Amino acid sequence: MAIKTIMVIGAGQMGGGIAQVAAQAGYDVLLNDIKTEFVEKGLGVIGKNLSRSVEKGKISAEIREQILARIQPSLSLQDALKADVVIEAAVENMEIKRKIFTELDAVCPEHTILASNTSSLPITEIAACTKRPEQVIGMHFMNPVPIMKLVEIIRGLATTDEVYREIEAMTLQMEKTPVEVNDAPGFVSNRVLLPMINEAIYAVYEGVATPEAVDKVMQLGMNHPMGPLALADLIGLDTCLSIMEVLHSGFSDSKYRPCPLLRKYVKAGWLGRKTGRGFYTYN
Ligand code: NAD
Repeated sequence: MAIKTIMVIGAGQMGGGIAQVAAQAGYDVLLNDIKTEFVEKGLGVIGKNLSRSVEKGKISAEIREQILARIQPSLSLQDALKADVVIEAAVENMEIKRKIFTELDAVCPEHTILASNTSSLPITEIAACTKRPEQVIGMHFMNPVPIMKLVEIIRGLATTDEVYREIEAMTLQMEKTPVEVNDAPGFVSNRVLLPMINEAIYAVYEGVATPEAVDKVMQLGMNHPMGPLALADLIGLDTCLSIMEVLHSGFSDSKYRPCPLLRKYVKAGWLGRKTGRGFYTYN
């Protein structure tokens, strides 16, 4: 199949980044969200990212315009009629994702592949609400998408080899590195990363150290480019909590219980960078 048009659902930090790298790779992109202002905000971030690339001499101003011209805003899932691949990057909530995939399945042409950028939710369960589970797959980009090289590609129980290969080729076209994994709670990336972040939050909760001290230990001692709490703020504390809950219920193992302090911050609306406050404060 020749993939020409990619629809991205959700114009937040991940969806915007995915739309940008897809357009940079030459695909026509439809960027969808539930409100005009959310799509405009996503497009604004893409515009700024590309301006920075122009300033750094990585691309010309003309190329910037060409990339932007390939991204069209969308406020209706009916636009998926034109898509060869849909990449869903809405919030980390199974009910919302099931609703989106059920509607996409009804709208999309037969050949359309439906991918989810979920951080942890089972691809097999998302696929089960469609009549095309063999064409449903996980495409887990990393944050920030334009910079990070990895895409974890997750096969659902029914995903065919052909669909896997199409998505692998598309990932390479986006100049990303695909790594194949099977469907399990948190896949590989978040099964390993999130328990570490959760433990760092426990260290703060129990008064072992301040967020600054925890992050410094991990940066200077373990050579991590970013401390776990700064990373949690970047990911979004709501997303971190959702992933811990998926690990906790998915493995029925108490070692994955989310830290009460994480729950408290999410309840307070302290979601990290996107709300200006998490473990750190942002302007
Ligand atoms: P975000 O909160 O920045 O953006 C989510 C966007 O989805 C919002 O703009 C929201 O309006 C939109 N949305 C909600 N319901 C929608 C619907 N029904 N239709 C269309 N749009 C809808 O969240 P994010 O950090 O971009 O995360 C999006 C997805 O990517 C989640 O599944 C998350 O787990 C996953 N993910 C996040 C990260 C990360 O570091 N934040 C990394 C990898 C994957």
